[in-house]
Amino acid sequence: MKIICIGRNYADHARELKNQVPSEPVIFMKPDSAILPKGNAFFIPDFSQNLQHELEIVIRINRLGKHIEEKFAHRYYDEFTLGLDFTARDLQSKLKEKGLPWEKAKAFDGSAFLGPWKKVKDFKLNNLEFSLSRNGEIVQAGNSQDMLFSVDKLIAEVSKYFTLKIGDLIFTGTPVGVGAVQPNDLLSLQLEGSTIAELRVK
Ligand code: ZN
Repeated sequence: MKIICIGRNYADHARELKNQVPSEPVIFMKPDSAILPKGNAFFIPDFSQNLQHELEIVIRINRLGKHIEEKFAHRYYDEFTLGLDFTARDLQSKLKEKGLPWEKAKAFDGSAFLGPWKKVKDFKLNNLEFSLSRNGEIVQAGNSQDMLFSVDKLIAEVSKYFTLKIGDLIFTGTPVGVGAVQPNDLLSLQLEGSTIAELRVK
């Protein structure tokens, strides 16, 4: 199973990191070892002094597919959740400056946190409000209608390059408001105003 991540899929977030708004999706990956096991706290790795949260809608692929057309992409998933794409921003900036790959900053153990799976049919995936609270204060809030590339468009684009398999995950990008986490922080992930997952930082 693989984890495909999309960068800069919300214009306001691209601007906050002084990145250009992309004309095609920015794609990177995490290995399956990046998934934080259920019930575990998130430990800030010692190689980062600026470990940031990125709240994202995550789609789970339920059919094998390659070269999927956008109009058929909705047939390839029926569940989603909210997740965190933890990022060692200081390390990422150094790698970006040198034109090197981001994996050390993005794909380390525990860097992918997942909430509980929800049925797509019970929600409006293209108009979904979601937010992240840190110690009770909302730090990120987004709506999926502000995605530069919709979920179906992302599946079409990603599957040009990579065969999608059952169980593969797509992190669909983060809205504005990324920021550093500190030991003892409590992160709460809210979907349409209700908390669906909490995570303690150590
Ligand atoms: Zn991200």
